[in-house]
Amino acid sequence: MRKSLIFTLLWIILISTSTWGSETERKVYFSTKDNLSKIVLSELAKAEKSIHIAMYYFTFRPLAKGLIKAKRRNMEIKVLLDEGQKYSKSSCWDLLVEEGIKVKFYKSPGLMYNKFCVIDEKITLTGSYNWTGHANKINEENLIAIDSEEVAKQYKKEFQNLWAGPGIIKTTSPENAKYVGNRNSRIFHRLDCYHVKRTKETNKVYFADRKKAIKAGFRPCKICKP
Ligand SMILES: [Zn+2]
Repeated sequence: MRKSLIFTLLWIILISTSTWGSETERKVYFSTKDNLSKIVLSELAKAEKSIHIAMYYFTFRPLAKGLIKAKRRNMEIKVLLDEGQKYSKSSCWDLLVEEGIKVKFYKSPGLMYNKFCVIDEKITLTGSYNWTGHANKINEENLIAIDSEEVAKQYKKEFQNLWAGPGIIKTTSPENAKYVGNRNSRIFHRLDCYHVKRTKETNKVYFADRKKAIKAGFRPCKICKP
């Protein structure tokens, strides 16, 4: 009787650990020996469908550029930041918004202190690592990459709850734009240029002013001369 109970218990433990082991792959990184931003960049480069990020600090431009590259491959990208980051001069949020990435400043009684990123609802990156240059160079930080749809699902759910919570969403919308850029040609136009009508909505980037378009690497159209 007792023997069979022990056997059953062992069997349950064996099954549960083997399921976890086969469906979940984990890689652990530390800033003392790994280049954390490089690891994040390589994961962003592999993204195909979606990227959801909740990050306290996001100031490291190479990571913003990696995200912008992903956006140009046409996928849903959302970035949730702490409300306080709205006033930070070093934050990358404006670069992201200019490229059509939705950024939300979450309003919390405390801090939006998460540091996670869910890619294609499959890979979860989390740990102490904020997306800053400092964290990469001099801080002692850790990052874990988890390949598990089950884990990604839980993080994505938390992301959606936060995204639906209080705060302001920043997005370049047609309503307040004066110019439209084409992501493929990297040329920007006045709203009434005939090129704009022929541009797919997913390839459009809206700009409130000329300077921002040029800063984002777009050239003015030679026909409508914006
Ligand atoms: Zn034009």
